[in-house]
Amino acid sequence: MIDVHKLRKDFPILEKKIHGKPLVYLDNAATTQKPKMVLDEIIEFYSSINSNIHRGVHYLSEQASIAYENARKTVKGFLNAKSDYEIVFTSGTTQAINLVANSFGSKFIEEGDEIIVSEMEHHSNIVPWQILCERTQAELKVAPFDDDGKLMMDELKGLITEKTKLIAIVYVSNALGVVNPIKEIIEMAHTQDIPVLIDGAQAVQHFPVDVQELDCDFFAFSGHKMYAETGIGVLYGKEKWLEDMPPHHSGGGMVDSVTFEKTTYADLPFKFEAGTGNYVAAVSLAKAIEYISKLSMMEITIYENDLLKYATEKLDAIDGLMIYGLAPKRCGLISFNLDNIHPYDVGMILDKLGIAIRTGTHCAEPVMEHFGINATIRASFAFYNTKEEIDKLIDGMHKARVMLCK
Ligand code: PLP
Repeated sequence: MIDVHKLRKDFPILEKKIHGKPLVYLDNAATTQKPKMVLDEIIEFYSSINSNIHRGVHYLSEQASIAYENARKTVKGFLNAKSDYEIVFTSGTTQAINLVANSFGSKFIEEGDEIIVSEMEHHSNIVPWQILCERTQAELKVAPFDDDGKLMMDELKGLITEKTKLIAIVYVSNALGVVNPIKEIIEMAHTQDIPVLIDGAQAVQHFPVDVQELDCDFFAFSGHKMYAETGIGVLYGKEKWLEDMPPHHSGGGMVDSVTFEKTTYADLPFKFEAGTGNYVAAVSLAKAIEYISKLSMMEITIYENDLLKYATEKLDAIDGLMIYGLAPKRCGLISFNLDNIHPYDVGMILDKLGIAIRTGTHCAEPVMEHFGINATIRASFAFYNTKEEIDKLIDGMHKARVMLCK
């Protein structure tokens, strides 16, 4: 069982006071806080073995390279990938999706082809496909969701044609917290040999993910949203796709040999890791995985689902509060508005109370457009949050209501 009061001590920043009030950090979907174990690992790496990876035969370089490749093995285990060379380190989800859009796109997408995304995507899983479609004269199709935020599966099915070359879809919406039926989508796509990319940026930190069981073709996530340092992310890709895809960035580290006449490329995954990557952050990601694995992913899921249920009930009871995306399967976050008050004004009042929530479009403008709104207030949870913190949010909302409702 999660002993929240004990494990909160692992996160130094949670001791902080903001405007004289204890910090209530409910902006975890934007980025999570880091446990001391991860922070210590970063200092230890720089203090004891820092050196560029895969570059030298000297002791430090070898030690740093071993740590980096061990981090890859840890990620492989975390996702249950078949092999470590299916794990490509990127700077984050955004870069991982761009890698597929550029590399898969240049090899497999032609004029007249179709790519399907959903209406609830983060901009990171829209814009790279739009740019690719503009470049290749392919078509971007959009699967809608209903007013509960539930993806409309029949509509999605209806969009698939023999020209569909890829479905790119978010596992958990960062604007609504809705969990999509990814396995069903993958099964449906695979009956027609269509590969599926999953944006897992809001999934891996909340519940176990097994890429072999899902049978997804690509899976992207960011380290900073799951207790690791910023600047590291992962693209999982099935070997058969990664082998077939050309490099998307080029330079040092991704080559086998270079002459002015011809360059040959390194094997997977190095073909996709040009230049000096953020190897220290990769090691921090492995530490973060170690940390959450010790807590147990299943326990995290149970604890966070209970927090979300509690927050939903309490918020729903506030007069004039509108929750967006009440589909049955949700996790990690809740998005809402209060009467006609601008979310920024609520955000400012909550901030003065030490409560950090997110206000805005959450980089998902089409979701805002669906509901005919400009922005929402979003509270997003981690396993270090407590029901007492949710009570403070509720109190804050009542205060905001009194102050802002005329
Ligand atoms: N996809 C989703 C669903 C997200 O929530 C985010 C970030 O909020 C991203 C993609 C982009 O992640 P990053 O900025 O770490 O690349």
